[in-house]
Amino acid sequence: MKAAVVRAFGEPLVIEERPDPEPGPGQVRVRVEASGLCHTDIHAAHGDWPVKPSPPFVPGHEGVGLVEKLGEGVTHLSVGQRVAVPWLGRACGRCEHCLSGWETLCEQQINTGYGCDGGYAEKMLAWADFAQPVPDGITAAEAAPLTCAGVTTYKALKVADVRPGQLLAISGIGGLGHLAVQYAKIAGATVAAIDVTDDKLRLATDLGADLVIDARKQDVAEVLKQHGGAHAAIALAVNESAFAAVNAGLRRGGKLVMVALPAHGTIQVPIFDTVLNGTSVIGSIVGTRQDLAEVFQLHAAGRTKVIYETRPLASVNDSIDEVLRGEVKARIVFDLDAGR
Ligand code: NAD
Ligand code: ZN
Ligand code: ZN
Repeated sequence: MKAAVVRAFGEPLVIEERPDPEPGPGQVRVRVEASGLCHTDIHAAHGDWPVKPSPPFVPGHEGVGLVEKLGEGVTHLSVGQRVAVPWLGRACGRCEHCLSGWETLCEQQINTGYGCDGGYAEKMLAWADFAQPVPDGITAAEAAPLTCAGVTTYKALKVADVRPGQLLAISGIGGLGHLAVQYAKIAGATVAAIDVTDDKLRLATDLGADLVIDARKQDVAEVLKQHGGAHAAIALAVNESAFAAVNAGLRRGGKLVMVALPAHGTIQVPIFDTVLNGTSVIGSIVGTRQDLAEVFQLHAAGRTKVIYETRPLASVNDSIDEVLRGEVKARIVFDLDAGR
């Protein structure tokens, strides 16, 4: 089987021929049909973050495909069933986080495409308990972006806790942002979408954003303040100054939800303003299995639209460059059936 492999940080990925992986106890082998390119995969390939993967590794945590082989003890999945393999490859199931509905904070977790090989491959392994069944009626290509971009922004909306009619700023209308806008509308928020390309701002409007802010030309905080300030802001742009801009545009009591992970990212949070205005800053990391099940249910019910462009896996390096140049409409999805 073919896989796209990071051999060294910052170097082009290499398409390798590898033997089919054998599922261990509790695992399944998935014949990947579609696999999304999340910006996190680029951070992984560049070694951007303090906790790094160990090359060689196969990135990808939006892999969707058909179960091909069951490991020992797997009884609840069947061969031929479509599953999605998210970032949360497995968690311990016993710690305080796992037991309190916060498995995404488990310290024993293994992350797909980071701590183990991921979905940039024709075949991959998954822990059966964390492989999410994809409901009938959702194609593999649509399920792929929902598996990270969808669940992450759906969860961030829960963390933001916005109520109908409240102003929510969404900074960065890429893979994650285009779904965030839709979940925000479903939640009844008034949405201010912020980006730096005309295409993304147009996309945000098409998806129902009430207000678009061009961060190249407009003072983001000022515009938000003109609308009373944001009750919450979700930071999805891979840019530190974009975090500071929406933080400055919060209204009193507002909440900044940090989701994007720019390399070595830090922002200054002014103590005086934070105290006097009673604002908060909180991080949000992907979502649980239940969150992903809800994301799939919403999509199966026709409530969301996934915008994607398909590419063969062989285009992986060009595709990464396109994302970095901001040229991708929302998400690139590798079509693994194309090369077979
Ligand atoms: P993307 O490249 O598809 O989207 C980023 C968007 O930000 C683009 O539309 C770009 O035009 C826009 N942008 C760039 N500079 C901007 C600025 N100054 N102001 C406003 N917008 C700006 O990336 P993505 O796949 O959506 O991922 C976004 C980030 O989220 C990445 O850092 C990724 O690692 C992170 N991420 C975090 C989680 C989590 O659980 N916390 C999960 C998935 C991804
Ligand atoms: Zn745990
Ligand atoms: Zn991701």
